[in-house]
Amino acid sequence: MKILIATANAHKVDEIREILAGFPLELCDLRDFPPVEPPEETGRDYAENALLKAVFYSKHTGLPALSDDSGLEVDALDGAPGLYSARFGGHDMPHSQKILRVLELLKQHPEKGRTARFRCCSTLVNPQTGQTLSQEATCEGFIAETPSGEHGFGYDPIFMVDSRRTMAELSAQEKHAISHRGKSLRGLLGQIYPTTNAPTARP
Ligand code: IMP
Repeated sequence: MKILIATANAHKVDEIREILAGFPLELCDLRDFPPVEPPEETGRDYAENALLKAVFYSKHTGLPALSDDSGLEVDALDGAPGLYSARFGGHDMPHSQKILRVLELLKQHPEKGRTARFRCCSTLVNPQTGQTLSQEATCEGFIAETPSGEHGFGYDPIFMVDSRRTMAELSAQEKHAISHRGKSLRGLLGQIYPTTNAPTARP
């Protein structure tokens, strides 16, 4: 099956390609098509945003489109930045500064703890069959005192996956084995290919 990776985020494109490497799919991405302004993310939750992106890019290309809507939820900040993770502090603020902002805000609530999770909803819209599949998944962790690690992207340098390492200190394969995106994509594709033994399917 030929599938469009329906995201303008190059980091997500790379991760999705790596996670799906073991599935019998022909993958292309938005760089293979004329540029288009991304849709406004007006959904009330991850599933709504993932659906509107998949529908939009599927119409743009005529292909089955696989979208990703994701974010970091910090419990002491009532789930922020959450759905607004990419827009937190403004779209143009680099993640190095968004991270410092999260750490600053957390200092105001030392009593509330530092638990957090990444959440991801993957949605596949297939205009050829009319089928829509969706799968949400989380990765639980907590927020570090200071950023650490060079791998991954976004908020990875402050997301502790265990008592020693941030998400940014994991190799790509280690991240995909436990990440919100890895779990959600394997769950989604498992609905189509229940018996595929993808290399990253097991932690
Ligand atoms: P979206 O493009 O609206 O889905 O926003 C996704 C945002 O969530 C990213 O720009 C990051 O800020 C954050 N995010 C999602 N997944 C990850 C991840 O795997 N690592 C770090 N940050 C992530």
